[in-house]
Amino acid sequence: MELTRRDLDPLNERLDALTPDAVLRWTWETFGRRAALLSSMQRAGTALCHMADRAGLGFDVLFVDTGALHPETLATRDELARTHRRLSVISLHPARTVAEQTRDEGPLWLTPDGQARCCELRKSDPLHTARGRYDALVGSLRRDEGGARSRVRVVDLDEVMGALRVHPFANLTAAQLDAYVRAHGDVVVNPLHAYGYRTIGCVHCTTPVRDDEDDRAGRWRHLKDVAYCGINPTDRADAREPAVTLDDRYAPALR
Ligand code: SF4
Repeated sequence: MELTRRDLDPLNERLDALTPDAVLRWTWETFGRRAALLSSMQRAGTALCHMADRAGLGFDVLFVDTGALHPETLATRDELARTHRRLSVISLHPARTVAEQTRDEGPLWLTPDGQARCCELRKSDPLHTARGRYDALVGSLRRDEGGARSRVRVVDLDEVMGALRVHPFANLTAAQLDAYVRAHGDVVVNPLHAYGYRTIGCVHCTTPVRDDEDDRAGRWRHLKDVAYCGINPTDRADAREPAVTLDDRYAPALR
């Protein structure tokens, strides 16, 4: 069954009316262990993991360890794996260490072209090693993050991974996310958020932000006009319409 984005319109209309945990349940009922959560151990991602674990859904959680992450982020991953026992946290790694890459190619993150290559090598390529293992990847992107995220659809296509992307939090506002975290004291929260990091990536490319700045102002602050790493298809401005082929057994759930 080949799917285009237009084929997903009726499904998006249906899922748009559901709560995030209902979308998570639909994903589990449709794909089971052929679906995985994606989390970079920022607050929305760990809240998504909490919601799945609380609902008894035994997803794998894919975490890309770029080798350049803060110790707090790695500790968050470890704490989440320890406390969310229904989930299986899987760390994906780049082929080379940061030191090896820098020896071979220099500090790529210092220029726009180098950043694109570095993010591909250290983020996208490790995720792509999981290609073929999953038919749905579930992320925590929200429309009210603005920018490219304002067009997030609950269900979308990831042509490179040959899978659906599912965004149960597409309609969730920042205030609703705050309320969920406040209401559930056992959501594992990356301590960097308390230090002024509103979004979190690699050490070299993430800083805290001031109150008067956008949430993403701390990402690639040293580079002009870089807002995303490209690991999420939503963030890429692809001119071409993607198409993904999935097993026919999913047809009743997807049409
Ligand atoms: S965020 Fe920076 S250090 Fe991390 S992969 Fe991208 S360019 Fe490299």
